Amino acid sequence: MKKTCDLLIHNAQLITCADNGRPFGQFNQAAIACKQGRIIWLGPTTEAMTFNAKKNINAKGLLVTPGLIDCHTHLVFAGSRANEFAQRLDGLSYEEIAQAGGGILSTVQATRQASLQELIDSTCQRLAHLKSQGVLTVEIKSGYGLDFDNEIKMLKAARAAGNKLEVDVKTTLLAAHALPPEFKNDRQAYIDLICQQIIPHVAKNKLADAVDAFCEGIGFSFEETKQVFDAATRWGLPVKLHADQLSDLGGAGLVAEYGGLSADHIEYTSTASIKKMADSDTVATLLPYAFYALQETQKPPIKAFRKYGIDLAIATDSNPGTAPTTNLLQCMHMACTQFNLTVEEAVLGVTINAAKALGIDDKKGSLEVGKTAEMVLWDTQEIADLVYWQGQIISNQILMSK
Ligand SMILES: [Zn+2]
Repeated sequence: MKKTCDLLIHNAQLITCADNGRPFGQFNQAAIACKQGRIIWLGPTTEAMTFNAKKNINAKGLLVTPGLIDCHTHLVFAGSRANEFAQRLDGLSYEEIAQAGGGILSTVQATRQASLQELIDSTCQRLAHLKSQGVLTVEIKSGYGLDFDNEIKMLKAARAAGNKLEVDVKTTLLAAHALPPEFKNDRQAYIDLICQQIIPHVAKNKLADAVDAFCEGIGFSFEETKQVFDAATRWGLPVKLHADQLSDLGGAGLVAEYGGLSADHIEYTSTASIKKMADSDTVATLLPYAFYALQETQKPPIKAFRKYGIDLAIATDSNPGTAPTTNLLQCMHMACTQFNLTVEEAVLGVTINAAKALGIDDKKGSLEVGKTAEMVLWDTQEIADLVYWQGQIISNQILMSK
């Protein structure tokens, strides 16, 4: 008797991103069977006729990858920062713009003024573009509210946008993104607000999946970041960190000491911190668009990450100040051209390693039995095309079983 399934894809070139001993976990002339939202079988196309499928798709030898994952974005915001782009071209630095009250704080003002519905609507526009590239899981941070009500509003907007577009949104509390102007003479009072009120409320109401901070000279210090991480840990929330982007404050090492999911940016990360990341299996998330937009010159220490076996993820960092992009495939391209990643590293960076950076690699990021049935069929037989064309020319079709 034939087995039943909801969706059967056959005659596919599967880019499984699983560890099967072949580059990309590639599996040619393959078939994949899905039922009730899960992958239930993978095998050669010649054995696929043992299934009775409600929907049958002949991939005609084209590529099928897992749904892509953007593991670091600031997709919820209001206002525009296009003017700062012009200011930077006129010679002002990111720090100078921030110190003059621009930068993050101008987005904070606009985001506080926006209604929940306005934030949901504008986030949906950006999320829809990511989804058009086969991105089916997106991490979205708060961090432009910087007070109790507006941080919560951002997290709710992120979840609502995900529900509306059927994209799996993972939310991260980033209240420690910038010091709100009303606390400029009392930094500790703001840290206390985050640790004693915002984190407990977010944890109790399950509004966020992780807690993040901006550990930097223009953000929060090593000691302040520790307080935020201590509170997150007390409330059972995993941590990640904007670390070592403009200088080495030891951020990547710190997040690793807390068993954190990922250290992100990491241009200035030291070997001592990388060793700690290796011990804690913390992912290194590369954000090549921000590197490009800020015209940085210090590249992340890719060779050292490889040497110590650190998993590399790639994300858009989509945000109105330093990464006006919703093009994850272009970011893969940039990680290759700017940071010398291989095509395989770029593909794993938006699939299995991005899943690790979100702590969901038991469910997503690769095509394996038991994982979520979210696939993308690409109109090419050449995996390098995804990276090479930067999201142009190569069309795709999202295939899901629910
Ligand atoms: Zn960021």
